[in-house]
Amino acid sequence: MLSDTIAAISTAVGESGIAVIRVSGPNAVVEVERIFKSKTPLTHALSHTVHYGHILNPENGEKVEEVLVTVMLAPRSFTMENVVEISSHGGIVAVKRVMDLLLQQNIRLAEPGEFTKRAFLNGRIDLSQAEGVIDLIRSKSDKAFSIALKQVDGMLSSKIRKLRHTLVETLAHIEVNIDYPEHDVESLTSQFIKEKSSEVMAEIDRLLQTAEQGKILREGITTAIVGRPNVGKSSLLNTLVQGEKAIVTDIPGTTRDVIEEYVTIRNIPLRLLDTAGIRETMDVVEQIGVERSKNAVSEADLILMVINASEPLHQDELELMEQIRGRQAIVIMNKMDLPSQVDRDILLRYFPEELIIPMSVKEEQGLEMLEEGISKLFFSGKLESADMTYVSNVRHIALLKKAKQSLQDAYEAADQFVPIDMIQIDVRLAWEQLGEIVGDTAHDALIDQIFSQFCLGK
Ligand code: GDP
Ligand code: ZN
Repeated sequence: MLSDTIAAISTAVGESGIAVIRVSGPNAVVEVERIFKSKTPLTHALSHTVHYGHILNPENGEKVEEVLVTVMLAPRSFTMENVVEISSHGGIVAVKRVMDLLLQQNIRLAEPGEFTKRAFLNGRIDLSQAEGVIDLIRSKSDKAFSIALKQVDGMLSSKIRKLRHTLVETLAHIEVNIDYPEHDVESLTSQFIKEKSSEVMAEIDRLLQTAEQGKILREGITTAIVGRPNVGKSSLLNTLVQGEKAIVTDIPGTTRDVIEEYVTIRNIPLRLLDTAGIRETMDVVEQIGVERSKNAVSEADLILMVINASEPLHQDELELMEQIRGRQAIVIMNKMDLPSQVDRDILLRYFPEELIIPMSVKEEQGLEMLEEGISKLFFSGKLESADMTYVSNVRHIALLKKAKQSLQDAYEAADQFVPIDMIQIDVRLAWEQLGEIVGDTAHDALIDQIFSQFCLGK
C-alpha cells in the first residue's frame, strides 16, 4: 500500500540559507543514489550518517547542486521507512532543480501531510500526536508550542489510553457476567459499572475543564485596544509588542491571506485586532476614533479600553463603556503620571475595581497589573501549572463530550438495573469514542481529512 517513494521540500520556500528535501519510501536510498555522487555510494551508507556530494543530472552528468545528504534507514526514521534528506543551498531555483530531478526518478511528489500520515499508518505516532504536529507547525506562541509538543509527545494519548484500558476491563467484567447470569453477580456488576463509569467520567471532566483554556492558548485571545484618539492606544500596543516581537503569521488553510498580529502576555497569546493602528503609522493614528472601536468590540474576546486619566471622561467614553459593560474588559486609566481628572466612581459603575488599572504607558508603570488582570480574567490567575495536559483540539473536545454522555447513559442504566448486555453497548460506545481521539477506531475519511490540513513537506 505504501510501497511508493515520495519527496517534498520540507523547509519553507523562499529566501533561506539552506533548504531540505525529504524523500521517504522503501526505495528512497536507491532512487536518490541515481542522481547523487559522493566518495562512497549512498547504498552502502549506515543509518543516521551524513554524506557530502553533488546532485548530478544523470542524462548529461552536469553538476546541479552541492549538497549534504542524510540517510535514515527504516524503521529508525520519522516515517519508519527509509528516509533521505537532501540539504541544498536555499533559493527557489536550486531547490527546484534538485526536486525536478528527483521527480524524474521513481519518486512522486508527496501530498500535504503525507510524511506524517505514513508515520501514523506505520504505527509510529497516533492520531492525536499527528494533530499535535499540525499545531506545532501553526503555533504562534511559546505556550501554544509547548501544548502542541506535549500532544506530540503523547501526553494526551497516554491519558486517553488509560481511560480506555479501564473501559476494556469493565467490558471484560460485563462479558463474564453475561456468561454467568446469576442474580447476585448481576447486581455486583451494576455496582462495578457505576464505579468505573464515574471514575472515567471524572477524568473526562478534568480534561474538558482544560479545554476552554487550551483553546485560548492555541488560538489566542482576540483582543481589541479601544478608546478615543490620543489616549495612548498605540503607545500601549508598542509597549506590549516591545521585546516580544509581534509574530506575524500566515496560517495555511484556515484564514488564508489574513495576516494576524500576536503578542504574548505571561505566555498568553493575544491576537490583536487591527484597531490600535497596528499597521498605521503614527500620522494616521488620530483617525482611529470611537466608531472603529465600536466595531472592533463586537468581535473581541478581550477589550482593553484606554482612557486618558488626565482629562475628564468624554461622552464617547461613557457610550463605549455602556457597550462593553459585562464583557471581558479591562479599563486602562492611562497617563497617571499627570494629575488625574477622572472620576473613579463613574468607572466603578461600569467595571469592578480590579479591572480598572491605573497606568502610565509613557513611564512604563502598571504593566504588571495589566498582565495580572488579563491572566485573572482568563485563567483565574493560575495559568502557570506547567505540566497540565490541555485539550485544545475541537475534535478531541467533541469526542470527550460524547464519551462522557455514553458513560452517563451506562451509569443511569446500571442504576436502574437495565439488562447488562444493554449497558454493555454504551460502555463500548464510550470506548470507541475515546479510541477515535487517538485514531485506534478512526475511519479512513477522517484520517484523510486530518492529514489534508498539513502543509506540503510534513
Ligand atoms: P492613540 O491615539 O490612542 O493611539 O494615542 P498615542 O499612543 O498615539 O498617544 C498619544 C499621545 O499621548 C502621544 O504623544 C504619547 O506620547 C502620549 N502618551 C501616551 N501614553 C502616555 C502616558 O502614560 N503619559 C503621558 N504623559 N503621555 C502619554
Ligand atoms: Zn493610536
